[in-house]
Amino acid sequence: MPSAPRIEFNDVSLSYGRPSDGTEALSGLRFSVEAGASVALIGPSGCGKSSALRMIAGLTSPTAGEVLVGGRPVAKPRRSTALIPQNLGLFPWKTALDNVTVGLSIRKVARSEARRRGREAMREVGLEGFEAAYPRELSGGMQQRLAFARAIALDMDVLLMDEPLSAIDALLREQLQDALLDLWASSGHTQVLVTHSIEEAVYLGQRILVLSGHPGRLVADIANSGAGTRSHRDSSEFAAVCRKVRAALDGPRSGADAPSDSVLHEVSGGPANEKGGCSHEG
Ligand code: ADP
Ligand code: MG
Repeated sequence: MPSAPRIEFNDVSLSYGRPSDGTEALSGLRFSVEAGASVALIGPSGCGKSSALRMIAGLTSPTAGEVLVGGRPVAKPRRSTALIPQNLGLFPWKTALDNVTVGLSIRKVARSEARRRGREAMREVGLEGFEAAYPRELSGGMQQRLAFARAIALDMDVLLMDEPLSAIDALLREQLQDALLDLWASSGHTQVLVTHSIEEAVYLGQRILVLSGHPGRLVADIANSGAGTRSHRDSSEFAAVCRKVRAALDGPRSGADAPSDSVLHEVSGGPANEKGGCSHEG
């Protein structure tokens, strides 16, 4: 795997439509994601989460400011950035293996090499034997794994996921979260996960960026240093960070226009033995 790049948003704003009468989707975003880190992005529907991912992927350009990946402004889609879109983006008319290799074909990888890498990626996510199946023949969880395999086959160093598990029921969702954790730990890529689940954000994000709505602004950047191990879910830090995220989502407070630094929350000795308060799924 190539060494993973750092991602930077430098005062990024995004408007759709014409400057005069367009809608501002994101305003003044400034944050960075360290090389190899996993960051979760959470906020109300319509606050610009998908747009932020599309800018990192090079599919949308900021109206103002710059998005940098590996120190360079993203001018076009990078070869080694994988984006798993909200609807997974699987092609119903292609077999599972052809779905996994589609990104490789676009990148002009030879067919035999693409199929070898595709099979290996399917094995890695536990889908060996399903190469010839069509997406409709796979369960929701398997389709999810197929979308992961597509990213793995690309040999990505940046993985962007847009609410990847929102259609999955709660029990299976925890298993897939574990699979994502293992994938991130073993591959070392830089990762941004958009989710509307507080628990998912706190399980998988070493930092949780909280956006407010209309236009999306960064209202909190919450440290979560315990993320990255399976035992995190059962820790008192997990519960404490869930509460911080919920409080930030519940804003707005007076002074919400202040620079994000002034509302930066640090995890430092929060309530150690309180539990609960983490049931939000929304
Ligand atoms: P989220 O993923 O947080 O729900 P989006 O990034 O999808 O938010 O959208 C942010 C805002 O930008 C919304 O108000 C949405 O209606 C608007 N928007 C998104 N994509 C487009 C587009 N292609 N054209 C016009 N408006 C858009
Ligand atoms: Mg979205």
